[in-house]
Amino acid sequence: MKKITGVDILDEEVKKKLTTKNIYKIFNNFIMPLITEEERDFLEELELFLLKSIETNIDLNTEVYDLFPILGKKNYIQRLNNFGDCKRCNMRYEMLLAMATSIVDPELDLARVVTGVIFANPLFQFGKSDRITEVLHQIVTGKKIGCICITEKYQGSDAVNMKTKIQDKGDYLILDGEKLYTTNGPNADYFIVYGVSDPTNPRGTMYQVIVERGFEGLETNRLGIQSVPRVEIGQTIFNSVKIPKENVLGAKGQGYKNLFSGLVAERCAIIGSSLGIAWLTAITALIYTNIRSQFNRPIYDFQGVSFPITQLITELMAATELGFTSATEYDKTIEHQHFEEKKYIKYNASFSSGAKFLASSLAHKISYETQQLCGGIAFTDNLRIDKALEVAKVQEIIGGARNIQLYLVSRAIKDMISFL
Ligand SMILES: Cc1cc2nc3c(=O)[nH]c(=O)nc-3n(C[C@H](O)[C@H](O)[C@H](O)COP(=O)(O)OP(=O)(O)OC[C@H]3O[C@@H](n4cnc5c(N)ncnc54)[C@H](O)[C@@H]3O)c2cc1C
Repeated sequence: MKKITGVDILDEEVKKKLTTKNIYKIFNNFIMPLITEEERDFLEELELFLLKSIETNIDLNTEVYDLFPILGKKNYIQRLNNFGDCKRCNMRYEMLLAMATSIVDPELDLARVVTGVIFANPLFQFGKSDRITEVLHQIVTGKKIGCICITEKYQGSDAVNMKTKIQDKGDYLILDGEKLYTTNGPNADYFIVYGVSDPTNPRGTMYQVIVERGFEGLETNRLGIQSVPRVEIGQTIFNSVKIPKENVLGAKGQGYKNLFSGLVAERCAIIGSSLGIAWLTAITALIYTNIRSQFNRPIYDFQGVSFPITQLITELMAATELGFTSATEYDKTIEHQHFEEKKYIKYNASFSSGAKFLASSLAHKISYETQQLCGGIAFTDNLRIDKALEVAKVQEIIGGARNIQLYLVSRAIKDMISFL
């Protein structure tokens, strides 16, 4: 990869104070009152690990994937589902993992959430065969990379009406089609793919299968997405790919139900990443503007700088509370095995959509505003603000564009007045 980092122009005094360690210290002050004692212990342990083992290995000229096995060794590829002897696993832990990882490296967290949650969660929920257990082990240890293929060239927001074709041939399935914007795709070892046997009846005929790198007829190409150069996002083509039955996660019709129940987990994890980005840029601005002087005083002394930062942090505190509430709601649904109950599924889907809409647009707003408030240095790679701003753009569209999140909430709100 071409070297993309530039010269270091950051003032020594700023550099000494604007460390990830200090950002975590301030972040903890905000976050600790919102979480339990056990969650606090988890967060502190995690932050120490990220400082020691991840931050020291980050190279902005290298893709994020070499960091996966380091995360995997400590079971930090995901914290949504129980794996190994891990006790601290649910959506609230996953959200803390996403926040702390995004603070140290927002691009890494984007790729991690895709492999660790968006890809792995359906395997935890629906995987039955020995092969799937094997795949899951490789993914959660960070040795292999996963991705998810929903979006197509002509079916984006209207994903249900997908055209990718799956035919049941008895002992195996045959998959034909093209998916787009597959995060991690060009580098992935495993692909969760959705396809239908009858495009006029997608709900009744949708399958969910796992394609493996090396299967004949699989082709991946990288898209030129410049906002996240360390994450590969691609076009994934399936030319009569033969899928063994043991790689089927959702059989005919079940694929549709799996797709929708998975979207809630996906959105919650994206909420965590978005909040992490927002805290990273808000705290960076708070520290920087208190050190940087113009007109003989720290620029934070000017209300034109301090008031907007304060307002952004106030909004972020509220969004963080909402994020934890959506995680708690998700955990309750899983704990009480409510996934077959329509009213809980609907409630969770709309709640998570609203929170995802809010958190991801706030991450973008805070990154954009703090960049302007900090000035030129925030456009360089000496601060992490510009990188965070670029990743925030992706967080806003991945998992469904903002209008689609609003569409889901608007339908749920309309349902509330249906008794009138
Ligand atoms: C960087 C990146 C990573 C991604 N990663 C993945 C991935 O890993 N796997 C995957 O499957 N997909 C992925 N996506 C795809 C992403 O989920 C889609 O881009 C998204 O669902 C929108 O689809 P579309 O791009 O085709 O836009 P369109 O559906 O064409 O939408 C274009 C615009 O129209 C609006 N619109 C559409 N329908 C309506 C409506 N009914 N009401 C109001 N407004 C509407 C949308 O909100 C949007 O603003 C990724 C996308 C990007 C950019």
